[in-house]
Amino acid sequence: MRALVKTAAGPGLELADVTAPQAGTGQVLIRVLRTGICGTDLHIDSWDDWAARTVRAPLVLGHEFVGEVVETGPGVQDVKAGDLVSGEGHLVCGKCRNCMAGRRHLCIRTIGLGVHTDGAFAEYVVLPESNVWVHRHPIDLDVAAIFDPFGNAVHTALSFPVLGEDVLITGAGPIGMMAAAVAGHAGARSVVITDVSPYRLDLARKMGATLAVDVSQGAIADVMPGLRMSEGFDVGMEMSGRADALQDMIAHMSPGGRIAILGLPTGEVALDMAAIVTRMLTLRGIYGREMYETWYAMSVLLQNGLDISPVITHRFGYEQHAEAFAAARSGRCGKVVIDWTRPTLAAGAS
Ligand code: ZN
Repeated sequence: MRALVKTAAGPGLELADVTAPQAGTGQVLIRVLRTGICGTDLHIDSWDDWAARTVRAPLVLGHEFVGEVVETGPGVQDVKAGDLVSGEGHLVCGKCRNCMAGRRHLCIRTIGLGVHTDGAFAEYVVLPESNVWVHRHPIDLDVAAIFDPFGNAVHTALSFPVLGEDVLITGAGPIGMMAAAVAGHAGARSVVITDVSPYRLDLARKMGATLAVDVSQGAIADVMPGLRMSEGFDVGMEMSGRADALQDMIAHMSPGGRIAILGLPTGEVALDMAAIVTRMLTLRGIYGREMYETWYAMSVLLQNGLDISPVITHRFGYEQHAEAFAAARSGRCGKVVIDWTRPTLAAGAS
């Protein structure tokens, strides 16, 4: 089968012919239809320090996908050939304390599809039945392809109640934009999102942000009076991984405010602990998706009208993988989707 492979330690990827995987006991073989490119894939492509420490070549990349089940291994009970599925890319042990308690997103032995084991940038991928999410209602294939990052957005956006609250999101990458859409859908009074990219701020407005603020041009405090806010934001969602963004967010929270942090800083971050203590702020780290409460929430939010499709801005065939990665790296994009059923698409941008 064709697959996008890190063939050796070092930068670059190769579209190669590799042996297709087979469905073992409890596993499902999936014909991949479409995949999304994640920041993780860019790190592995460019072979930064994290990738060099984490990834062993050869490796098929990719963990955001939608596909059709073509074969089930022995013992698979509830998933069947023909099912349209996305997959949870965190493979858990099922035996540690948190797994046994049903908190599989907190497994101590999580390994990553397309990071530690062959992934979905290929014509076929294999997953345990327990990692497969079956789409039981009609769904746009591009949207289904990005359920993994959509799940990050839903997990973060629904970490704290947002009904009637003023929400601040720092970082208008695809997950930040989707979180803005989710928070608005869930009844937030206002959703303010910050970034320094005019392209992404425009896209965040299309996704339903009340205000999109370029923090290289203006300050968060300046937009609060126009929203009739005087006491600060009630809920914060940190999506940038930048120290200054989290510090700025903490400075603009109302007393008792709650912050969910998905952005992953590369180093230590100095925080105003006195502000956190005296204003009784809550900070919560968010990683991945709750298995499978977040997946349930994603499906039902789409069924009752949430539209995240504007976040998908570029589509390519699998032979155009270099262009697709370049588009994802440019920052002038939302989500970039690769179609594994067609080698080329006429136009990259939609
Ligand atoms: Zn576990």
